[in-house]
Amino acid sequence: MPHPGSIPVQSTTVGDFELTVLSDGDYYLDGGAFFGVIPKVMWQKRMQPDEQNRLSVGVNSLLIRTGKHTVLVETGIGNKLGDKPKQIFQPEEKLLQNLAAAKVAPEDIDVVINTHLHFDHCGWNTVMKDGRAVATFPKAKYYVQEGEWQHAREQTERDRVSYLSPNYDPLIENGQMELLNGEREIVPGISVKLFPGHTRNLQAVVIQSGAQRACYISDLIPTSHHLDLTWVMAFDLFPLETIASRKRFYARAVPEKWLVVFTHDPQVPWGHLEATAPGKLTLKPLEKL
Ligand SMILES: [Zn+2]
Repeated sequence: MPHPGSIPVQSTTVGDFELTVLSDGDYYLDGGAFFGVIPKVMWQKRMQPDEQNRLSVGVNSLLIRTGKHTVLVETGIGNKLGDKPKQIFQPEEKLLQNLAAAKVAPEDIDVVINTHLHFDHCGWNTVMKDGRAVATFPKAKYYVQEGEWQHAREQTERDRVSYLSPNYDPLIENGQMELLNGEREIVPGISVKLFPGHTRNLQAVVIQSGAQRACYISDLIPTSHHLDLTWVMAFDLFPLETIASRKRFYARAVPEKWLVVFTHDPQVPWGHLEATAPGKLTLKPLEKL
């Protein structure tokens, strides 16, 4: 069954920076896994599952053009999945064509930031060439947290299915991927901040230019339907930390009016958060430019 149609390429500005959402297309996830302990009678009012209880969810990367650097946050699912996972997830593999539509060549990317190393966040880091996984973005420096990579290497029973070595190990071997230990400004105006919960070392990307800020919050808040503190995905390794990290994030993002970018929202890639009642947040979607 085809996906309903993924988010088109769209741009906005944050201070002097140009931000563009680039979708890798949609894929399928189990609705129960996507909403954790929340009863289906509640979440299905927000997202409608199909007859197999699947949700068609988005895979949104963010391109940032600062004037000096071209930065890509996340690289989607890519095109290296085997036949069985391809059948399960039905990825659309659209990131490179959407990058071309934004008039950016793979060689133009200076920096790639992976928030973590799950297969749906770093798939286009590499492509197969002559039987080997090589960098899709030949001139880019790639960044992820060292703790995330260490966890990926552990290959635990719980989540090893999410970690595919060809997405990152070749880049560590050739020196293109730098492993970070904590928070860091990657290029002027673009920093990584730690928000543990989904994984121990999840990093979000905070963008600041002039007085304006945006944040690619990744799987801390996967869609605009996950704003409530307790609407936490079943995938999260540390759900109590997800809630604590969300509180810390909202304490700044709401009053400072950050533009929030959602990785897995199939319809609304970004918007501003508003506190409409005590403990209740709603999203004000951004007008399309
Ligand atoms: Zn993830």
